[in-house]
Amino acid sequence: MADKFDLVVVGGGPGGYVAAIRASQLGFKTALVEREHLGGVCLNWGCIPTKALLKGAEVAHTLSTMQQWGFSADNLSFDIAKLVAHSRGAAEKLSSGIDYLLQKNNVTLYRGEAVVTGKCKLSVTTESKTLALDAMHIILATGARARQLPGLTIDGDRVWGAREAMTPTVLPERLLIIGAGAIGMEFASLYRDLGSEVTVLEALDRVLAAEDREISARAAKAFTRRGINIETSATVANLRTVGDHVEADIDSPRGPISVRADRAIVAIGVTGNIENLGLEGLGVATERGFITTDPWCRTNLVGLYAIGDVAGAPWLAHKASHEAILCVERIAGETSARPLATDQIPGCTYCRPQIASVGLTEDEATRRGIATRIGRFDLQASGKALAIQEPEGLVKTVFDADSGKLIGAHMIGPEVTEQIQGLVIAMGAELNDRQLAETIFPHPTVSEAIHESILDSINRAIHQ
Ligand code: NAD
Repeated sequence: MADKFDLVVVGGGPGGYVAAIRASQLGFKTALVEREHLGGVCLNWGCIPTKALLKGAEVAHTLSTMQQWGFSADNLSFDIAKLVAHSRGAAEKLSSGIDYLLQKNNVTLYRGEAVVTGKCKLSVTTESKTLALDAMHIILATGARARQLPGLTIDGDRVWGAREAMTPTVLPERLLIIGAGAIGMEFASLYRDLGSEVTVLEALDRVLAAEDREISARAAKAFTRRGINIETSATVANLRTVGDHVEADIDSPRGPISVRADRAIVAIGVTGNIENLGLEGLGVATERGFITTDPWCRTNLVGLYAIGDVAGAPWLAHKASHEAILCVERIAGETSARPLATDQIPGCTYCRPQIASVGLTEDEATRRGIATRIGRFDLQASGKALAIQEPEGLVKTVFDADSGKLIGAHMIGPEVTEQIQGLVIAMGAELNDRQLAETIFPHPTVSEAIHESILDSINRAIHQ
């Protein structure tokens, strides 16, 4: 006899566990199946542990600047094992918190691997048995994993993926990072602050290519100033392990280069976890490694949904959680459910300086034929940024020239990941330049730069 549920979620990451909790809140008899750790990659091997490590890197940076603040110290030492232990501890604590939340919300948890065996049917293989589940609705939230390319295979030893990069036992003296997306740039920033010599290779012509061009350029400049070697328009012709090292032959616009490093990190994007779920047999549509869905997260099989990374870009935890809510609420017939506003999903990269953005870049707005008005404010003129000795940064705001509506915001600078939300709200509320110009920003804060950028877009900047 199959266990019967109204809704079963496969995968316990920020998409899956949020979907299960919301479903239970809405009165569905709900189960969640997870084969590894609750919290998924985000909580166990992504967002959270990297933030813990990056905080350690920030401490290292602050210590390196102590003389500017009047401090001096001898015999400073660093134990990487303690930093890694802190990071793992944060992940473990949060993962067990999800377990508690599922119990509190009466979600039945199966620790095992699920396969969709038919319409409204699953089988789950746990350590000890295989059991059948029936569910009116099945939500797949199985996430994504690092993409690997022939010749760029992660061996976990000298060629690392994110997991190994998050759990080093020794600091590599020389590190090669392949891919200058969010993961590559965060690890470059982290390891440089801890003392490694870092080279970042990027196939495209700029780092953080999804960001506005000016922000990419600022990030590259800041990294270069920190002594990080960046090679753009560069591809690896050959990566090999030699003894305890890696050697890479690189094709770059300035000719062939060879790089020798102690370790390499491969961060060239992700691919969806769509295998072994029974999708092929059921004819579930996929595209380039991700499940195809409509704006309500429905697949082409009635009763089967997909949310989060497995359903495609952007591969962000908050996008997964948001899809979880809208998908479940739609199933429950809640009239307040809305499809995802894809142009209003913020993105944050926690390198130093931080990067945060929402909406259209200037180039994308132009590509869509939108006439724009742009505002800019350089943090060199921000009192707070100067006071905290972090004046490297820019706030760029993009407005629709006809309506005056904010359509994009792009920031690089200290704690901008904590500030972008104000602009996400402004975009959601469809505020225009005048309304934003009239908004009172607290002084002294780095966020005043947002105000100045908005004022600049209507030629009313005061401090530049
Ligand atoms: P990404 O797609 O953001 O970046 C990968 C980069 O690698 C791209 O710029 C690409 O051009 C480059 N690349 C691809 N093949 C290459 C090659 N052979 N040689 C050199 N460069 C190559 O992917 P990612 O950084 O691996 O991150 C995966 C996903 O996770 C992304 O969608 C990212 O946004 C998300 N993520 C977000 C955060 C955050 O929000 N802070 C942190 C980590 C990851």
